[in-house]
Amino acid sequence: MSANPLDTALHSLREAAELAGLDPKVIELLSVPKRTMEFTFPMRMDSGEVRIFKAYRVHWCDALGNFKDGTRFTGNLTLDELKALALWMTIKHGVGGIPAGGGKGGVEVDPGELSTWELERLSRSFMRHLPMKGAWVDVPGADIGTSEQTQAWMLDEYEQIIGYHSPAAVNDKPAAVSGTVGSAEATGQGVYYVFEQAVKDFGFKEDCSVAVQGFGKVGAVLAGLLYEGGYKVVAVSDIYGGIHSSEGIDIPRLQEHVRKTGKVVEFPGAEPVSNEELLELDADILVPAAVQSVIGEENAPRIKARLVIEAANGPVTPKAEQYLLDKGIPVIPDVLANVGGATVCHFERIQGLTDEYWDLERVNGQLKEWILKAYHKMLETAKEKDSSYRMAAWVNALLKIEASVKKRGWV
Ligand code: NAD
Repeated sequence: MSANPLDTALHSLREAAELAGLDPKVIELLSVPKRTMEFTFPMRMDSGEVRIFKAYRVHWCDALGNFKDGTRFTGNLTLDELKALALWMTIKHGVGGIPAGGGKGGVEVDPGELSTWELERLSRSFMRHLPMKGAWVDVPGADIGTSEQTQAWMLDEYEQIIGYHSPAAVNDKPAAVSGTVGSAEATGQGVYYVFEQAVKDFGFKEDCSVAVQGFGKVGAVLAGLLYEGGYKVVAVSDIYGGIHSSEGIDIPRLQEHVRKTGKVVEFPGAEPVSNEELLELDADILVPAAVQSVIGEENAPRIKARLVIEAANGPVTPKAEQYLLDKGIPVIPDVLANVGGATVCHFERIQGLTDEYWDLERVNGQLKEWILKAYHKMLETAKEKDSSYRMAAWVNALLKIEASVKKRGWV
């Protein structure tokens, strides 16, 4: 059974807090959520029956700014998972230099069982019943089971309740409803900027080989950018399996194949590989961009890549990371590598607050600047503290949060 995500998040917090020399009172404050909200709401289904739904919102720490981040509509939602995610978002915002606190919430529901009208009513009901909300309070974004469309309904509901426009009250909305361009690609785009810089800093050749696990919102965008950038993407996979070609895969043709078949497997000219084999291929750089805990103690000794960049959340377990580090394989951590999505959410908020909407060039230009600033700061701290990049990124975030907590007089 995989570890409780909250225990994992708290373990990282304690380890990084010790390295940062954090005040014990600040550690105590950051080890518990500021508040957790558990609420229910009734909703009439298409059949006429009324169902009661269970919903949550966790606020971890708002020392750096108002609460912000995702909303999950999923059948197996637990409060501990949401608490862990809210803590991770608190840290991620700190790593990325984003003036926001960490929040996470959702509704216990399988959205696949809902009609479109039921999904609309659910999104609106969640927003109506959410106890605390607003552009300067808590800004829910999308996550598993939610989308641009659910976020557009949430914003519309909120604006109908308050009686005026407030586009910064909800994130991940479509550009047509005061959202931002570049939002859907932001995480993959951010990973790409980190990748490009790491290639230079870690001494790889410009045409180095890459294996990418996961071909969804993050992996497919990243693979496309790597191909355009002249890197050799030698393997990709999705939940059904993977493909490998030491000559490099034509990603635009693969995207066409996925559009037609729904899978990467059976792409002409490439050999099949399993997801497990993909991780162990002899590629220069490995980018897990699918799910958590795919590199564990068992397979870590077989990893041949010379650098791992975590595009997914938590793909390398703590014990596996230690093994890789001992073998001289650095890991660029999730809290830095995939912060592009959270960064562009902040840009979406700035645009909503100012009513000045940016073009894609400006969004991506600012994203590159912000994420590389955080990346260089992580490298600097790792050198100074002789630590892993993960601990360095956490230390940077924790020191920023501690400074605000103390100046506010919270401890
Ligand atoms: P997605 O659902 O769009 O895509 C996931 C991909 O992984 C799909 O290709 C799927 O087939 C594949 N996959 C699923 N289970 C798998 C398994 N067991 N083995 C191998 N492949 C599997 O998800 P996404 O939005 O691309 O997110 C990918 C990862 O990045 C997740 O860990 C997510 O938490 C993280 N992340 C995403 C964002 C974002 O903006 N979407 C932001 C930060 C972090």
